[in-house]
Amino acid sequence: MKEAIYPGSFDPITNGHLDIIERGVKIFDKVHIVVGRNMNKKCLFTDDERIRFIKECTAHLGDKVVIDSYDCLLVDYCDQVGVHTVIRGLRALTDFDYEFQMALTNRQLNEKVESVLLVSNIIYTYVSSSMVKEVASYHGDVSEMVPPNVLEALKEKYNY
Ligand code: ADP
Repeated sequence: MKEAIYPGSFDPITNGHLDIIERGVKIFDKVHIVVGRNMNKKCLFTDDERIRFIKECTAHLGDKVVIDSYDCLLVDYCDQVGVHTVIRGLRALTDFDYEFQMALTNRQLNEKVESVLLVSNIIYTYVSSSMVKEVASYHGDVSEMVPPNVLEALKEKYNY
């Protein structure tokens, strides 16, 4: 069985992330979507909220996806679950430097770990969690960028 891990902050999950997940499940039998806990980044949503949003909007994928979280080096998490293929998404060239560095660092830490960089649909190349939060904080329309459950949560968070 071919399995892969798709790690991220998912604060919150966007249609760009979902596009990468949909592509991932076409290539792999199972995709482990894993939320980074206690990372240096300060998150808008709690670990449990971020996990819940992902569960809700990937429910249609059934057992093609597993949702979990991790609080350690990603390569150590890979060893724990016995899955050493890591999916990351590429929006534009601006993502490339960071993702390339991450892939090489992970390989340096654990040579079993392979990274697969997937390109999302061009209509989502501008979508990022940080842009979504910025726009939503000023009550802008992010309905094209996030799934309905996240849209509701953002409206609640920013009172609009
Ligand atoms: P991290 O903090 O680990 O970068 P993110 O949740 O921001 O976590 O992103 C997780 C992964 O999803 C990253 O590889 C990122 O490049 C990718 N990603 C996020 N948004 C998009 C998008 N719109 N299109 C393609 N990939 C994306």
